Amino acid sequence: MTESISFYPGSFDPITNGHADIVARALKLFDRLIVGVASSRNKNTLFSLKERIELVKEVVEKTFTQQKQKIVVVGFDTLLIESMREHKAKVVLRGMRAVSDFEFEFQLASMNRALEPQLETVFLTASEKYHFLSSRFVREIALMGGDVSTFVHPAITKALAKKARVQNSSK
Ligand code: ADP
Repeated sequence: MTESISFYPGSFDPITNGHADIVARALKLFDRLIVGVASSRNKNTLFSLKERIELVKEVVEKTFTQQKQKIVVVGFDTLLIESMREHKAKVVLRGMRAVSDFEFEFQLASMNRALEPQLETVFLTASEKYHFLSSRFVREIALMGGDVSTFVHPAITKALAKKARVQNSSK
């Protein structure tokens, strides 16, 4: 039987416990999961692509110790469908937090299907405790000196604190 491989794309700027929760759920459904860190050049990301990839790798290794061989972390700077082809993934995995995510996610899934009819998008809903959680709020809170330790892995808290120090010292 062929392996079921799903591709979880995102900016992961930075990876939060909400993202990790989606990864944990997906591991129950798929044989393999590719976490695709998008270059997101049109977004002004806090962390560079290289930093975001390293942080996702670190969190995955430390969080999913038993199942880490099922997860591959890659960066991509192409169309999503091209990177998916390269990794032989047929399913796009996305997280759905609230109705507010719906419109954008619906459009994205439709566009991807128009480009690659073979492809299906699977949405997993976040745990209630992560419904409000977004990378954007985590970044904003951390850069203003707030405590984000309940929202992200300790490795991310550390990386955010370092960014905040660099930003404050250059003011
Ligand atoms: P993008 O810039 O592509 O939206 P993100 O890194 O913000 O990338 O999100 C990647 C995916 O993870 C999206 O499908 C998003 O809805 C989902 N996601 C983000 N935060 C959470 C969360 N707290 N719970 C569940 N899914 C989430």
